[in-house]
Amino acid sequence: MKCFKCKGEMREGFTTFVTDTDDCCIVVRRVPCLQCDDCGEVAYTGDVAENLEKIVNAAKETLTEVAVVKYPGAVA
Ligand SMILES: [Zn+2]
Repeated sequence: MKCFKCKGEMREGFTTFVTDTDDCCIVVRRVPCLQCDDCGEVAYTGDVAENLEKIVNAAKETLTEVAVVKYPGAVA
């Protein structure tokens, strides 16, 4: 896959996804992603993006100010 920013080569790896909402900050660790060698741009596959959304929504329900979650490899 090519980077949509600089057309560099994107490699599979892991990243930390952080999202800041009004109520809390959610950190998801060890998220599988594609990362650009050249500019560091990160892209997620559709499945991963979907899982992230579920994780973020679930974390919001806990109403903690800072939630740190490890990406579950087993989510279908
Ligand atoms: Zn790039």
